[in-house]
Amino acid sequence: ENASKNDFIRSAIREDMKEGRFPPPVHTRFPPEPNGYLHIGHAKSICLNYGLADDFEGAVYNLRFDDTNPVKEEQEYVDSIMEDIRWLGFDWEDRLYFASDYFQQLYDWAVKLIRDGNAYVDSQDPETISKSRGTPTEPGVNSPYRDRSVEENLKLFEEMRQGKHPDGSSVLRAKIDMAHPNLNMRDPVMYRIKHARHHRTGDDWCIYPMYDWAHGQSDALENITHSLCTLEFENHRPLYNWFLEKIGVENPPRQIEFARLNLTYTVMSKRKLRQLVEDGHVESWDDPRMPTVSGMRRRGYTPEAIRKFAAEIGVTKTESMVDLALLEFFVREHLNKTAQRRMAVLDPVKMVITNYPEGKEEWLEADNNPEDEHAGTRSIPFSGELYIERDDFMEDPPKKFFRLAPGKEVRLKHAYFVTCDEVIKDASGNITELRCSYDPESRGGQSPDGRKVKGTLHWVSAAHALDAEVRLYDNLFLRENLNTLEEDEDSLDYLNPESLVTVQAKLEPSLGDAEAGSSFQFLRKGYFCADSKDHKRDHSGNSIVFNRTVQLKDSWAK
Ligand code: ATP
Ligand code: MG
Ligand code: MG
Repeated sequence: ENASKNDFIRSAIREDMKEGRFPPPVHTRFPPEPNGYLHIGHAKSICLNYGLADDFEGAVYNLRFDDTNPVKEEQEYVDSIMEDIRWLGFDWEDRLYFASDYFQQLYDWAVKLIRDGNAYVDSQDPETISKSRGTPTEPGVNSPYRDRSVEENLKLFEEMRQGKHPDGSSVLRAKIDMAHPNLNMRDPVMYRIKHARHHRTGDDWCIYPMYDWAHGQSDALENITHSLCTLEFENHRPLYNWFLEKIGVENPPRQIEFARLNLTYTVMSKRKLRQLVEDGHVESWDDPRMPTVSGMRRRGYTPEAIRKFAAEIGVTKTESMVDLALLEFFVREHLNKTAQRRMAVLDPVKMVITNYPEGKEEWLEADNNPEDEHAGTRSIPFSGELYIERDDFMEDPPKKFFRLAPGKEVRLKHAYFVTCDEVIKDASGNITELRCSYDPESRGGQSPDGRKVKGTLHWVSAAHALDAEVRLYDNLFLRENLNTLEEDEDSLDYLNPESLVTVQAKLEPSLGDAEAGSSFQFLRKGYFCADSKDHKRDHSGNSIVFNRTVQLKDSWAK
C-alpha cells in the first residue's frame, strides 16, 4: 500500500541511509502515551512508522509506551492500544518497550548533566518558574538557584528522589539559556516531584521525567534512527538534540516532523475525546461515533480501509483538514468487495399478496455478493405477507418515483413482480397495509412476456423475519471544521443530537447466524456490522443488534 510513496520523510530517510548517517536498518517507533484510546490520527502515525518496513529493506519498528506521567496513565489504555495496533495489522513482535523501564538510566544521565554543570535544582515554585520564562519577545529571568554548586545540586536531586521534598517544592532544570529565542531552550524542566503511584513502577519513584527529557533518550536507548512526530514538536527539536549531545550519544536519532491528521466533523485529541466519554455524550471510548480505532472497528470500518486511507493522505509539512468522506470511500470500497448482501427493512410497512396461495411459503435463491464469485448463494423465504420499506411506497407519487404506488408494478428483489391494488389505513390516516397481487410467472425477477418494471425493492417475509435493533449512526458533530472555533465557542455546542437514531428493523432470517463484528451490505441501505458488544446470535431475535457503518453512495434502481 505504501510501496510507491515517495514523500518528504521517505526521501530524507533514503538520503540518510545512502550517506551512511546511520548503520542499517531503518528503525522507527510509535510512542503512545497510555492516557486514552488510539484515534485515527494515531493510526496515520502507526501506518507511517510501521509502513516504512515496506520501503526500506529490513526496517523495524518498536512500540514504546511513553508512560512518564503517572497521574493520567492506566493499564486499560496500554491493553487497548496494543489490541488496536494489532487489529490495524501491525506486529511489533518482541520490540515492546516502556519509557518507565528507563527511569533509572534517565536518572543516571540527569546526574551526569548535573556533574557537567548542565542541570540544576530550582527551588522556586512552579508559578514563578513559569512566569520567569519570559515571552517570545522578552527574555526570561535567571533563577536565583541557577548557580548552585554541583555538590548542592547532587545532594538536592538525591533528596528529591528519596521523597524528602513535597510535590512542587523543586524541579530539576537543564541549564541552557534564559534568553534563548526558542522558549523551549530557556532552562526547561527535566524532572518534577510527584508522589503518585505509577501503573508499572508502583511507588519506586516520586520524581518523574518530563516528555522532552524522556523522549529522545528513549529513542537513543532503542537505537531509533528516525523519530517521526507531529509538527508541534518542531520547536522541541533543538532541545531533543541538545540533550542527546550532552549525554554524549553517538549517531543520535533524527527527529522529523509531519502534519497531524485532522478530520472533518470530529475532534481529534484525547482530552476532548475523554470529555465526550466522561460527560456521557457517547457511551464509551469505543462508541461507534468516536474517531477512535476501537470505535471505528465497532462501527464496522476495516483495517484495510484505514490503511488505504492513511496511504492516500500521505504525509505533509502543513496541516490540513481531511474530508471524512474520503475515509468513508475506502470503507465502502472494501466492504463492497467483502461484505455479503442481505435484505433488511429498517422502517417496515406490511405488504399482503392477495393472490398468493394461503399458507404457502417458498425458498428463493439469492447471490451473496455479485462482486465476489466465491461468495455463493443463500436461500430466502417468500410468503404472502411481507415487509417493505415504508418510503418505498407513495400514495401520490411525483413523476420520477419508480418505486411502489397505487396501480404500479415493481420487482421484489430475487422474487416476483407485484402490483399495488389497495392501501389500508388506520383511523389517523397512517398506512398499515399495502394489498398487492403478484405475477407467478415472474419468479426470479423476470417476466416471460418481457414486461419491464423500473423499481426493484428489498423486502422480508413477515413470518420469517427477525426483529432487530439497528443503530443508525451519523456524524458526531454538525460542524465541518472544529479547529476554527471562536474563543467563546465550544465543540460541544456543535454536537449532532441525531448522531444516533435507533430503529426496530425486520431482517431476513439468515442474519440470525451473523457473528458479532461481521459486516453485511443491507441491500439499498448501506453497510451494517453486528455490534461487537450487544449483538448475540439468537434466532429468537431478542438481541440482534446492527450498527450502520456507512450509507451506500448511490442506491441502485431507486
Ligand atoms: P492527542 O493530542 O490526541 O492527545 P498525543 O500526541 O498527545 O495525541 P500520543 O499518545 O503522545 O498522543 O501520540 C502518539 C503519537 O501519535 C505521537 O507521535 C503523535 O505525534 C502521534 N499523533 C497524535 N495525534 C496525531 C494526529 N492527529 N495525526 C498524526 N499523528 C498523531
Ligand atoms: Mg503526546
Ligand atoms: Mg495531546
